[in-house]
Amino acid sequence: MTEVPRLAQVALDVPLPGPFDYRVPDSMAMPAIGQRVVVPWGKRRLVGLVQARPRATEFAPERIRPILRILDEMPALPASWWQLVEFAAAYYHRSAGEIALPALPKPLRTVPGSRSRDPVSRWRKRFDAQPRSTALRPTPRLTDAQRQALEAIADARGFAPFVLHGATGSGKTEVYLGWFTRVLQDPGAQVLLLVPEIALTPALVALVSTRFPQERICVMHSGLPDALRAAHWLAAFEQRARIVVGTRLAVLTPLPGLAAIVVDEEHDPSYKQQEGVHYSARDLAVTLASQRRVPVVLGSATPSLETWNAVRRGRYRLLGLPERIEGAPLPKVHVIGTRQLNLRHGLAPAAIEAIAARLQRGEQSLVFLNRRGFAPVLCCPACGWLSRCDDCTAYRVLHRARGAGVGPAAHFRLICHHCGRDARVPRGCPDCGNVDLQPLGRGTQRLEDALKELFPEARIARVDRDIARRRGETERVLTAAHAGELDILIGTQMLAKGHDFRRLSLVVVVDPDAALFAADFRAPERLFATLMQVAGRAGRSGIASEVLLQTRYVDHPLFAALAAHDYEGFAARLLADRRQAGLPPFVHQALLRVEARTLDAALEFLKAAVAESDVCTRQLNLPQDVLTRYDPVPMPLMRKAGQERAQLLIESGSRPALHRHLESWITRLRLLKPAVRWQLEVDPIEI
Ligand code: ADP
Ligand code: ZN
Ligand code: ZN
Repeated sequence: MTEVPRLAQVALDVPLPGPFDYRVPDSMAMPAIGQRVVVPWGKRRLVGLVQARPRATEFAPERIRPILRILDEMPALPASWWQLVEFAAAYYHRSAGEIALPALPKPLRTVPGSRSRDPVSRWRKRFDAQPRSTALRPTPRLTDAQRQALEAIADARGFAPFVLHGATGSGKTEVYLGWFTRVLQDPGAQVLLLVPEIALTPALVALVSTRFPQERICVMHSGLPDALRAAHWLAAFEQRARIVVGTRLAVLTPLPGLAAIVVDEEHDPSYKQQEGVHYSARDLAVTLASQRRVPVVLGSATPSLETWNAVRRGRYRLLGLPERIEGAPLPKVHVIGTRQLNLRHGLAPAAIEAIAARLQRGEQSLVFLNRRGFAPVLCCPACGWLSRCDDCTAYRVLHRARGAGVGPAAHFRLICHHCGRDARVPRGCPDCGNVDLQPLGRGTQRLEDALKELFPEARIARVDRDIARRRGETERVLTAAHAGELDILIGTQMLAKGHDFRRLSLVVVVDPDAALFAADFRAPERLFATLMQVAGRAGRSGIASEVLLQTRYVDHPLFAALAAHDYEGFAARLLADRRQAGLPPFVHQALLRVEARTLDAALEFLKAAVAESDVCTRQLNLPQDVLTRYDPVPMPLMRKAGQERAQLLIESGSRPALHRHLESWITRLRLLKPAVRWQLEVDPIEI
């Protein structure tokens, strides 16, 4: 080590273990920890964050490059924020820079042009110029159950994790808002409300702002334009906004006054980040609460088994809202066996009759099919050709192209949902020339056609990710649905979440069976949660309502639990199965994933990784049986976008043992220099 008087360690978003040493030129003031700086990186310049100011370096002082510029238009990021970043970095085995920089709005992590003025003051003005809500809506009188839950939460001091378990429509949101009202009586306080989907933010923000007309709400999600997101982020950081509503990335907003955290629909897989560092915003929210010593509420009708197990072990405190508001009954669930039935367009006669009855009564129906597109595959009946993707181990899905008419005039494309490749439909079978190619199975577009044919007089609309890609379209459909201007809604799980349709009295679930037998052990848990949610759309305003569930497996226990609205029984059984099988939450997992040009290269890398893991286990003196390592295997979706993929699962009943192993393993893996891309995922939710 050499002593160097003016040294700074800078966190950068690069895939190397940082932080990196830089020199502070004599002409420059010493930057504070948490300040943004511009530094040279190879031939490029990058924005980084000062993470530490050591006195000595292990590098030759003459090789240490200087900081080029301090970006000081805004205050340094606070220590409380670094604490969460550093926890996440350690837990997910990445550098602090890989967590910290992507958490900043893009303009704040982009090197500003040398002459451009920093736009920070413009963002400040922009946020502060937003009108506040004028339409004050009063809080409803809370029910006894809501009041009890609220009192328990509001009485808590310090770190206190709660699970608010209540059926859809039981009034969880009012409990959150009641809590916020109390917390925000302290003028310095800030509250954070996480939601799983961007699509849920507008309605929620509208509700929140009518309850807190004096506040400007900070909204944080990836759908905001860069400058607007920066304006909101800065307002939260500078405490000009006291209420933050956002999706998973909002958990990494610096909130100096943080006093209350809510994670709504905490079971939702969307809380797991799927790019860059795969963090769980739900888990980080709990860590954040513990670091900041504040209560956190995890709300759900179907808590994740991880959370439910924490309740059973007494780590989280359970609060229940046993009934729907105003005694609205939960929908009656009928399971319809489809094996012996003559389906019309995939719909059972009872389902068609039920929709017709709703039409007559002026009530709404929701038809749920979790598969977008027209048909999942195109086939040649003559020779058996199927529309496989050239680049993935998957089929290209037949889609009706946008604005291209219906029926025979429609124009179709074949789109791969994994790599996005979009191809024309061949005129004839590529193998045998047969021109009579047939769609196989059914997606939401085809279902929409069918319903239009069956009910020509009905007002019908669809909501799925294809619709969501058209700007404003989802909101338009949802507004129409809320206003009662639609009779039949067709949709994927996008429609299952959070919406409160007043006239909806029927939910038809079409073909949920694939998820019953999926390879992923979490599939039944997910399916149950999704079906509970979609069923929960019905009968929220008190009209008698029903759910018709079409399946080939009428006796499956999942459907019996659903019909009985029995989350607890179902969760208890799944947990018993998981314990028996040695699966999470009873073990902790990490997954090493590789992508390479050939499967051999991918598996070769994993074999080398196994050898490295052996070395680590020996060096760390870990007992033989504390870690379980599975064989390297191709991933379920083996080829994606032309890359061959394989994975290696490693697990342990002891989280500390697993993480000690990962720590030293990662260091060794970085020294292997193969031509593959790899990533370690901690607590994977898809295997
Ligand atoms: P959840 O979040 O549990 O699904 P919500 O909070 O959305 O339920 O509540 C369902 C509906 O009941 C909403 O329209 C809400 O405005 C209304 N509501 C909630 N609490 C009360 C109450 N105490 N009195 C009257 N209406 C209420
Ligand atoms: Zn053919
Ligand atoms: Zn593909």
